[in-house]
Amino acid sequence: MERPNAWKAYDENSLNELEAVSCRYRAFLDNGKTERECVKQAVEMAKAHGYTDLADAVKAGRRLNPGDKLYSVCMDKSIMLFHLGQAPLEDGINVVGAHIDSPRIDVKQNPFYEDTNLAYADTHYYGGIKKYQWVARPLALHGVVAKKDGSLINVVIGEDENDPVLAISDLLIHLAQEQMGKKASEVISGEGLDILMGGRPLEGEEKEPVKALMLKILKERYDIDEEDMLSAEIECVPAGRARDLGLDRSMILGYGHDDRVCAYAELEAMWLLPEIPASTCCCLLADKEEIGSVGATGMRAHYFENAMAELVNLTCDSYSELVLRRALKNSRMLSCDVSAGYDPLYASVFEKKNAAILGNGVAFNKFTGSRGKSGSNDANAEFLGRLRRIMDDNKIAWQTAELGKVDVGGGGTIAYICALYGMEVIDSGVPVLSMHAPEEIINKADLYEAVKAYAAFMKEA
Ligand code: MN
Ligand code: MN
Repeated sequence: MERPNAWKAYDENSLNELEAVSCRYRAFLDNGKTERECVKQAVEMAKAHGYTDLADAVKAGRRLNPGDKLYSVCMDKSIMLFHLGQAPLEDGINVVGAHIDSPRIDVKQNPFYEDTNLAYADTHYYGGIKKYQWVARPLALHGVVAKKDGSLINVVIGEDENDPVLAISDLLIHLAQEQMGKKASEVISGEGLDILMGGRPLEGEEKEPVKALMLKILKERYDIDEEDMLSAEIECVPAGRARDLGLDRSMILGYGHDDRVCAYAELEAMWLLPEIPASTCCCLLADKEEIGSVGATGMRAHYFENAMAELVNLTCDSYSELVLRRALKNSRMLSCDVSAGYDPLYASVFEKKNAAILGNGVAFNKFTGSRGKSGSNDANAEFLGRLRRIMDDNKIAWQTAELGKVDVGGGGTIAYICALYGMEVIDSGVPVLSMHAPEEIINKADLYEAVKAYAAFMKEA
């Protein structure tokens, strides 16, 4: 059962569309290196497409009707978009959900120190990373600093071409005999990921003069005091833009494809919906997936359920808990998260006929998990059968996949959490090479097919 390469079916028009989507996606990646930056962009795009804030409708007690478009932001780190359909909520809605947090290196709360004429920031990495991949490369700082007076300072250092960048040094090969003999997981320690922040002393300063100059610049440029770092969220990410990859420009190399490629495909799919969809459609972009969907902005929190309750309240004559539960239970969902793309250089960890192949379109993972499907959401065959019909009717290039060979490893997504409501959920995403590396790789055809697949799902599921 070999699946065809999606590129083979494209005419001139498709190729133009594919390139246009890819171009917009690269801009989304460049301007969205943190979950907050992704939410900000999603709100701007939603507003441009006629969406209004659900909080305003709630405040005004405004009755909502089919065709209404609303967004709801949770703590600036996760967001939901709802496009109300003809069918009552009780019949369930069509959800596409992705996550917008990506592996990175977070700056500690008390980060700064000086050693031997160099100033550093201490860090604590976030999510599953191969630590050795993050040294000896240009890095940028993105985030916010919350001042005591309630104001919030946005920080981006290292992206403008006139900006300096940051870096974490690596040991020179000449003295690395012992390091080179270590296991890859031990080559660089977590505490060893300290960001080099400065190398010049402040004139006239005796105590820690290099750190003092760095702090002076932070103060002058951003009005940040050292103490303000106590209430900051600064993420250290790869500096620079996403780039076309390959002589044929068929792929994109960039930071954060996991899972912003699916998040972006969902957003584009929302703009493709008819004025009044048959069912209510929802694009859900969650935070904290990479560390277990925890916290108030992770999928395990109740913001989705709460937003649905508000929708029930504003669309029905009277609020009913039972209607809410039915709406959740009767819903259909694509948990849109990247899939491990088959890598010929690491063929031994894949079982090829059940691997996601780059260029073959959006991948459906009936289950994820590890060691005997542990931690997985195993989607129902009946649901998958319906999806096959929708995908084929809409001429979507799609494939099925598992995350690598049995016993080799595994991973999870937000799928199992939404399945707790009793709704139909399946994992579906874009194949990625070098997943969780500072620069990941996708094929443009898979992004293009994901946009079409998510739109078709929301229209017809
Ligand atoms: Mn992911
Ligand atoms: Mn991931």
